[in-house]
Amino acid sequence: MLNVKLPKVVDPRQLADRGIQLTGVIAVKDMTELASMLVESGAEVLADLNFSRDELRIRTIIGSAKATVQVQCQRCLEPVDVELAANVNLAISYSEEKALTLPKYYDPLVVEDDEVELLPLIEQELILSLPLVSYHADCSIQTSFGDGDTEASAAPERPNPFSVLASLKGKTDKK
Ligand SMILES: [Zn+2]
Repeated sequence: MLNVKLPKVVDPRQLADRGIQLTGVIAVKDMTELASMLVESGAEVLADLNFSRDELRIRTIIGSAKATVQVQCQRCLEPVDVELAANVNLAISYSEEKALTLPKYYDPLVVEDDEVELLPLIEQELILSLPLVSYHADCSIQTSFGDGDTEASAAPERPNPFSVLASLKGKTDKK
């Protein structure tokens, strides 16, 4: 199923009425705003979009977009892989005014005419999912910043080096 290109432009209402699922890829290099934030833009985005009507008859686009992209490690300034996973959770509206009446669990997508471009829509979701700062999980350069290990780090599961030091210190103190 891979390497099927997503259509550039779709009629989202018609797709929702028919309950269509679109799965396909988009080249990151075609997403110029996202690409400008990356050190390398050769990757592909895999998008999976389900167009349907919910129980309130609201037309929705629910799905996901995934890509592994390279950004700059904020410690060593070398490229580091970051896995982007964006959720698409949109409700289609004819106007900004009508969008205000949509349930809050959707993000409004205002489509005034019959067509919408998929690429900018997916690009914006991916940009929102991009971490503010990224580090190598095993980056060789240590920073002196005390707040270096925020939740935005690419490696939240790494043991804290200070707790290792603390346990070593605890062992030597016992003697
Ligand atoms: Zn690094």
